[in-house]
Amino acid sequence: MKRVLITGAAGFLGSHLCDRFIKEGFHVIGMDNLLTGNIKNIEHLFPLKEFEYYHHDVTKFVHVPGELDYILHFASPASPIDYLKMPIQTLKVGALGTHNLLGLAKAKKARMLVASTSEVYGDPLIHPQKEEYWGNVNPVGPRGVYDEAKRFLEAITMAYHTFHGVETRIIRIFNTYGPRMRVNDGRALPAFFSQAIRGEGLTVFGDGSQTRSFCYVDDLVEGIYRLLMSDHHLPVNIGNPDEITIKEFAEEVLELVGNPKAKLTFKDLPKDDPKVRQPDITKAKEILGWEPTVSRAEGLKRTYEYFLKEVKVD
Ligand code: UDP
Repeated sequence: MKRVLITGAAGFLGSHLCDRFIKEGFHVIGMDNLLTGNIKNIEHLFPLKEFEYYHHDVTKFVHVPGELDYILHFASPASPIDYLKMPIQTLKVGALGTHNLLGLAKAKKARMLVASTSEVYGDPLIHPQKEEYWGNVNPVGPRGVYDEAKRFLEAITMAYHTFHGVETRIIRIFNTYGPRMRVNDGRALPAFFSQAIRGEGLTVFGDGSQTRSFCYVDDLVEGIYRLLMSDHHLPVNIGNPDEITIKEFAEEVLELVGNPKAKLTFKDLPKDDPKVRQPDITKAKEILGWEPTVSRAEGLKRTYEYFLKEVKVD
């Protein structure tokens, strides 16, 4: 039985990865310090003998007994509100955490996949974003702690690949959504769903003309799995190229939820909020034979069911 370590296991993406690797017949070791993760996301795996959980902060030395075939590093605060509140932890998990896990990968001769992000492109001057674009990041702005941590993560991962011969994979994840997103993480989608369900104003930042491209979580997990099993060590974008303005996105949520009390309200645009974002997925198509299969209409419907259960209405 192949053994995989997944950091950030109790988070949105980490928990879906745990499910997928259990389904694929792996022994899964989930690790989390629950800074932003929720144990509820993986509780259903606790009875399985193929699943182990370690409560640990990966910025401290990481010890895992026994062999490891794969490591997936998904631990990090990942929403703009989170990294504004936890700037130092965000920098540490991307930098020190990645270093510790690369050391572990080297010692165990494991293949390691690291979660990078479209944020390495910053507020992009090239559209859509290709992997060859180096980005437009403000290192001292509010997003700098996340963006630069992830840029360092890519750099140190490449260094371990070239200098120590560690087998590494780098995924650049674009906006992703689905069940198990935290209701209060401040991101657009959880905010819009909870506001629409409660009959409040949907807080569109700025005039809502900024764009994003939203990928359903099952599609993302498939892309991660394929990249891990591929032999490609350079960064690969995984995301859904279906681009939409944030205002239109809020309107789609409004229509789906259909609460007559809910409406759009406009708030100030946060500093350094990227104006556009859309992945060029030519590489993922060519190298992995991957492209998204879940439309936004279908993905939003599935996600709505989750938020209906999670959002408390007074
Ligand atoms: N946004 C918004 N209202 C909210 C939360 C976010 O209009 O309540 C906007 C945000 O300014 C950004 C987009 O929605 O332009 C996506 O934000 P999110 O926090 O989901 O992720 P980002 O792509 O900025 O990392």
